[in-house]
Amino acid sequence: MRHTDYYEVLGVESTASENEIKKAYRKLAMKYHPDKNPDETASEKFKEISHAYEILCDPEKREMYDKYGEDGLSGGGINSMSPEEVFASLFGFGGTGHSRQKRGKDIIKPFSVTLEDLYNGKTTKISLQRDVVCSLCHGKGSKSGATKKCHSCEGRGVRVAMRQIGPGMIQRINTVCANCDGTGGVIREKDKCKKCKGLKVVEEKKRLDIYIEKGMQNNQKIVMQGEADQEPGVETGDVILVLEQKPHDRFERQGDDLLTEVNISITEALCGFSKVLVTHLDGRGLIINHPAGEVIKPGAIKCIANEGMPHYKRPFDKGNLYIKFNVEFPPSFWINPEQLKKLEEFLPTRTEEDPSTRPEISDEVHLTDGDFTEYGSKKRKGGNVWDEDEEDEEEEEEHHVGCNPQ
Ligand SMILES: [Zn+2]
Ligand SMILES: [Zn+2]
Repeated sequence: MRHTDYYEVLGVESTASENEIKKAYRKLAMKYHPDKNPDETASEKFKEISHAYEILCDPEKREMYDKYGEDGLSGGGINSMSPEEVFASLFGFGGTGHSRQKRGKDIIKPFSVTLEDLYNGKTTKISLQRDVVCSLCHGKGSKSGATKKCHSCEGRGVRVAMRQIGPGMIQRINTVCANCDGTGGVIREKDKCKKCKGLKVVEEKKRLDIYIEKGMQNNQKIVMQGEADQEPGVETGDVILVLEQKPHDRFERQGDDLLTEVNISITEALCGFSKVLVTHLDGRGLIINHPAGEVIKPGAIKCIANEGMPHYKRPFDKGNLYIKFNVEFPPSFWINPEQLKKLEEFLPTRTEEDPSTRPEISDEVHLTDGDFTEYGSKKRKGGNVWDEDEEDEEEEEEHHVGCNPQ
């Protein structure tokens, strides 16, 4: 005798095709999914329809159910998926309607790399602690695979709970038996495997080779299939490393392009240079011959084609390297006034003041070193700088103007 009619739960005929069952479940799941419908009875309904769908979408389970009812399913050790997993399988697995094999969790880890690693490529190893199926009992947990029927669920792997959902309305809910983890059997103490102590898995330390390919990006994932924790009867998940590029002190990356800043002297900016301007991420010097007379202005950005990052999977194609120039000026009074006069002969002529444009009232004032950023940061930190006490006039003045009188 059937306890629950799965066809009725999904509202389909017992002759319904896989596609009809799928459609019916999808329609109901959209209605009762906890994300759409936080009501508790809806959540129970979602569990119920998901369980019904899990059985009916699997031709083998459906056949057993058709022949023997719900009882027919417990014999085979029903490996129940969570309602969310059933729902997810709708979208993950094409139109077959077959239930997928249960899949173990992926292990996701951040993996720190340098920009040099991503430029040059690198082979390295990580060691990983993981569960593997016990080799002595082959994942059975006991010598012979002998198990005792679980007393909590009477070997069915599921327990049926009753719920009153309305006057005279009782709902049956199947839950995975916690005592036997849904397997229907428990292992006697004396039968337990010596190696895994009945746990079916043992811990293993494994070293994995990691290949960081040239041109890989920050946040790119390296997937090592089937290297996560093993569990008997479960498809092993993947170990997934997420690359995290450490900030670099000289280079900034944007896609396949690189940006770096270099300092040159004013003499080099005006008179040219021939030298290693940049040491690249592979340790190679890049020699630049810059002709005299082609002035490099402070803040100018120049480009070296094909010296950026290698393109992922096409490492001979590279992005561009951009160089931002900082021009260093000499310190004050580095030559005497006579020498300066001579220098001035070669420099562009001054912009002479036209006396007719001078305002009628003009005051002579003094320049001192100013720190405008200090003023800016005070303003950002402490709200309105103009609101300070008037008594602190001297100090206030310093804050406002950011000048250091000498
Ligand atoms: Zn074992
Ligand atoms: Zn049980």
